[in-house]
Amino acid sequence: MIAHYGYADGSGEYYLIVDTDRCDGCGRCVEVCPNDILELAPDDYGKTVVRVKDEFVNSIGYICPACKRRDERCESVCEHAALSYTW
Ligand code: SF4
Ligand code: SF4
Repeated sequence: MIAHYGYADGSGEYYLIVDTDRCDGCGRCVEVCPNDILELAPDDYGKTVVRVKDEFVNSIGYICPACKRRDERCESVCEHAALSYTW
């Protein structure tokens, strides 16, 4: 399943996308996130995968784009290429 977390507004599309088939729930992305916006939780099929915490879904456009400057960020540490962004 492809899960989209985020929103679109006049300035662009801000979605963090999780390919839950690829995610094995290792938690590396959760550990490196400097803003603590990720968590592990069961998906609709009971598999533990990463997701964006509900309270951050409507603000990731303000939080996540700055992370592009970091060597260690969620998408770069995922060994299964399960994460991507639209920004
Ligand atoms: S690092 Fe990749 S495989 Fe591990 S929890 Fe995050 S998205 Fe899933
Ligand atoms: S882009 Fe950065 S702030 Fe956003 S979820 Fe990934 S590690 Fe966290």
